[in-house]
Amino acid sequence: MAIQKSEAIILKTHGFRETSLIVNFFTQDFGKINGLIKGIRTQPQRYGGMPLVFSRNLLVFYDTPKRDLNLVTQCDAQDQFPAIRADLEKSNYAKYFIELLDAVTFAHDKNEKLFELAILALKALCGNFQSQQIARIFEIRLLNLSGFKPRLDACVHCQKEITGQEKFSSSLGGILCLRCLGQDKNAKAVLKGTLASIEYIENSIWKKALYLKINRNIASELANILSSFLDIHLDKEIKSRKFLI
Ligand SMILES: [Zn+2]
Repeated sequence: MAIQKSEAIILKTHGFRETSLIVNFFTQDFGKINGLIKGIRTQPQRYGGMPLVFSRNLLVFYDTPKRDLNLVTQCDAQDQFPAIRADLEKSNYAKYFIELLDAVTFAHDKNEKLFELAILALKALCGNFQSQQIARIFEIRLLNLSGFKPRLDACVHCQKEITGQEKFSSSLGGILCLRCLGQDKNAKAVLKGTLASIEYIENSIWKKALYLKINRNIASELANILSSFLDIHLDKEIKSRKFLI
């Protein structure tokens, strides 16, 4: 049983007995872990306060890989993102990001890039960027980093080059060419600008993606195809989405 230290984002908390708390962390160095913080509900000052969902913390814990629960000795808040907590819309988006992050990660599966993405998205929410745009960038990059990258450069079924009039199939995970449209009757026509925006967001640096100008039609199409793609590939309902505007 080794003592370990890592930065960690809090995904969920729930009470354990009268006095303690079980916290699901997404750590930078160990992936997703469960931690038990003993006595914190009666003596939060011992730990510098109660841990908050979507805060960034410095975590110290006893690593017990054979058990599901790790004993936490320290959970110091590094950033609680007060600008998000002061704003209902931003808070709802932050909770949505955390639910998606939880849905794509597995216990002890380290993914530093995903950790970095979540911190970038939370920081961006603290600024003056549109929450919707941050969400689209977060969704596209999260899909890429967790192995669900949609196929846009060629037909997802026959791998041939796309010649136009393509449709997006959420269930097959990409574009279908004219010959393969029968593979998914629910495939939807998409604007060229929607596909171009996804490719731009996949390939540009974070800051440039934040400043990408997306018109209203493309923004609404992007939101629709990304949410249906996420629902199908994560195979679960993302409950916090219904609180977004
Ligand atoms: Zn095809």
